[in-house]
Amino acid sequence: MTFKAQGFNATYGNNISVDAINNAGDYILITQPEPWALLDHKIDNRPLQIIQSGDLSPQHLDTLAKESPAVTVIGLGGGGAMDTAKWIHWRRQLPLLQFPSLPSVDACFTRMSALRDRGGVRYEGDAVPEMVYVDFELFRAAPKSMVTSGIGDVLSCQTAWFDWKLAHEAGKDEFGWTAEMPKISQTYLDELYLCAPGIAELTDDGLRRLMELHRDIGWRCHDMGHARFEEGSEHFFAYTFEEVTGRTILHGELVSMGVLIMSYLQGNNFQRAKETITLAKTRHRLEELGVKREEVIESLRRLQTYTVEQNHWYSQARLVDPNRINDDEIISLLDW
Ligand SMILES: [Zn+2]
Repeated sequence: MTFKAQGFNATYGNNISVDAINNAGDYILITQPEPWALLDHKIDNRPLQIIQSGDLSPQHLDTLAKESPAVTVIGLGGGGAMDTAKWIHWRRQLPLLQFPSLPSVDACFTRMSALRDRGGVRYEGDAVPEMVYVDFELFRAAPKSMVTSGIGDVLSCQTAWFDWKLAHEAGKDEFGWTAEMPKISQTYLDELYLCAPGIAELTDDGLRRLMELHRDIGWRCHDMGHARFEEGSEHFFAYTFEEVTGRTILHGELVSMGVLIMSYLQGNNFQRAKETITLAKTRHRLEELGVKREEVIESLRRLQTYTVEQNHWYSQARLVDPNRINDDEIISLLDW
């Protein structure tokens, strides 16, 4: 069965951004230096304002929204640019066009913006773009690891559904588990497996299919009213890593690391996760990621207490006994 996505309007193609922006009428542009540098000299229809994304505090975003002229909002860039554009569009009810420059996260296909508020991340808003333009040439101009890391938030479905089942079995499920859930996740994971070689080679087909997965997952988050099927112990591991190390790495690579470790601990088809990562050529070796062995082990030791403190959903993370971690075994899951 071929995978068929639901979700926001999307247009796919090569070099489609320039025409779309030139025909957008009056607009403000929310962007970052790299993607804008690729298009700047080809855009005759100049933006009324250029806003660099970066600060995602609600205060800053509200100021931007208040001061924006009443014209179309265009987001061009990664997750931060998408989320900023979404906020201004939603607060002011202005038309929104999105041009993701990376397939790393699904921010262009989700309704809420990820705000950085009081040291944490909070999701708010309800954005619906008129169109998401997926221009493969923008993806191909980015560092390759930023593209191949894009599998992380799809691969997370493998560990997340299992966590949800664990919660259900432990009587700690807030969301109404059904036996349909593993089937839906499996559809995503099978499609990801099939398109992974195309992602590695940056083909039109591979990139389109990866974005179609993000589009459908974004739609499902809204339809279900939560992201339980997509976010579980692999993300909680990622958040713990950020707390323990005080830094982060590419989100999709960190989440993929979480999937490798947590799927193994769950006894949940670690091999398949490993194969998908191999096919997509997503970086996973600690050396390539610039991560130290101790950082992984320390994060895993901290996982159980952090996930309780943060009130994360019940998951495999609760079951990791910090005193019973086999360091070599865990590191061997990543260094192949
Ligand atoms: Zn994520």
